[in-house]
Amino acid sequence: MRNQPIYANRHMRVVCIGAGASGLYMAYKLKHYFTDFTLNIYEKNPQISGTWFENRYPGCACDVPAHNYTYSFEPKWDWSANYASSREIYTYFNDFADKYGLREHIHCEHEVVGARWDEDNTELQQRCDFLINASGILNNWRWPAIPGLHSFKGELLHSAAWDDTVQLAGKRVGLIGNGSSGVQILPEIQPVAAHLTTFIREPTWVCPTRGMEYHKYTDEEKQRFRDEPGVLLNVRKKKEETLARFFSVFVTGSAAQTMAVDYMREQMKQKIGDAELAQKLIPNFSIGCRRLTPGPNYLESLTLPNVTVVHGEIKEITPDACITEDGRTWPLDVLICATGFDTTFQPRFPVIGRGGKSLAAEWASEPRSYMGLAAHGFPNYFMFLGPNCPIANGPIIFAIELQGEYFARFLNRWQKEGLASIDPRREAVDDFMAQKDAFMESSVWASGCQSWYKDRKTGKVTALWPGSTPHYMEALASPRYDDFEIKYHGNRFAYLGNGFSQTELNPDLDVTYYIREKDGGEPLFRSLQSTFNAKSLGDLLQAPPDLAI
Ligand code: NAP
Repeated sequence: MRNQPIYANRHMRVVCIGAGASGLYMAYKLKHYFTDFTLNIYEKNPQISGTWFENRYPGCACDVPAHNYTYSFEPKWDWSANYASSREIYTYFNDFADKYGLREHIHCEHEVVGARWDEDNTELQQRCDFLINASGILNNWRWPAIPGLHSFKGELLHSAAWDDTVQLAGKRVGLIGNGSSGVQILPEIQPVAAHLTTFIREPTWVCPTRGMEYHKYTDEEKQRFRDEPGVLLNVRKKKEETLARFFSVFVTGSAAQTMAVDYMREQMKQKIGDAELAQKLIPNFSIGCRRLTPGPNYLESLTLPNVTVVHGEIKEITPDACITEDGRTWPLDVLICATGFDTTFQPRFPVIGRGGKSLAAEWASEPRSYMGLAAHGFPNYFMFLGPNCPIANGPIIFAIELQGEYFARFLNRWQKEGLASIDPRREAVDDFMAQKDAFMESSVWASGCQSWYKDRKTGKVTALWPGSTPHYMEALASPRYDDFEIKYHGNRFAYLGNGFSQTELNPDLDVTYYIREKDGGEPLFRSLQSTFNAKSLGDLLQAPPDLAI
């Protein structure tokens, strides 16, 4: 029997991979709501903030309104525009790390090369009780599989590995791809390049959602955001609502989809201003099947005199040109590949689970996760933005917070209740996958277009959550512990300890906190639960109840 009060903490070692939006949130969460832990965040890059450090191509910005691309509890009043540049967002995450003292946990230029579940306690380089993979979904950029690509003797660039020293002025520049990256790059480099040839395989929807047009904030607006109570909150809530409610557009055949198609087709026609080009650029597939992108100035730039739009496949790349399937040659000095990322969900380093199983092998034919958060046979391993997470279903930063909160609940139980391992059951994974696949049949994501949301071979939607962000909030609100195989260190009731509660042993705490003047609405057992699970009771009593784990 432990001579400690009920729910006494034990020390916990957490390793987190990646110091982008997810890893920083995890660090914040642990630092503010836990004690008795060691956290090591390994970041492969020389600096933090993940995708917003890596992606520095001309025009790189976030196509989600800036005021809704912050943590829910950490607004920023001085965003320069409603679509903020990559540099501004990079600064936001750096400021966040500084404000909350998170850098002490972060080791930059430390790339994780392997992870192994160790049932028998043999020595590894860095042991941990939990491994949290916060390495991002769009992180492993890829060259296009075009014959001869690396024979190109001019400058060869990828959007996600931009080289600022490459000069585009006066050059014949080729741009492959019209995904979100290509759409942002094109209008930015068109004024600089002597000639720009863009290679497009499929059309894509490019149009801001109604009411979300590009807007640069004036000094007066920013001051109001800073000084007038409620103004910024109101803006954030309204835009968040638009983002959240947009979800019904993604349901095949919905009235919202039909209305959006009518509106956006008209908008695109006007912006393109050339009937023949419009015919080729406006998709026949549903809005949202590929990621919708607002694309300020993209369509308008395509008809400028120094821009050529080439439709179809590139057959071959030679030392100085692209050759398309129609046999035409397009001479180039610089070739930019805005060709996206490896989104197969194959781990970037060996992840070895129970019985020596490799995650890469387990997921070879399909990424089979437990709600996008964990994998069967890989105990105490959690993933931010794993397969089938709400990466494009609605607001994403809050979805990251939900995931961090979810992991924190397990970490909390591990610390206080003597858990040894937590492993999602295979049948729970199978059921989740079946439900997900059934849902996707009614979504536009499964319809006829090429997109990284789907597996290229099977056509199954692997990247998105089967529902809206509000739906996700409710799904993750409390873990379904019965879906997990939980093992304990010895007696599962050892945490009951010496028969005392922590409130009794701390003279500064109110042991009669349940004596109230009236029923405040919250069931007593919930306040008891949150009280016992808090970092410290003193902190909790000052904190709003909804912040308690
Ligand atoms: P992407 O959406 O995967 O687009 C890649 C583009 O490259 C597609 O047009 C694709 O054509 C083309 N491509 C690939 N291989 C090709 C080949 N062999 N020949 C010709 N074309 C080829 O990649 P991305 O634009 O980098 O965007 C990925 C995701 O990153 C976005 O969906 C978004 O989630 C995120 N992102 C976000 C922002 C933001 O503002 N928040 C900005 C940039 C990116 P096909 O479609 O025909 O395959």
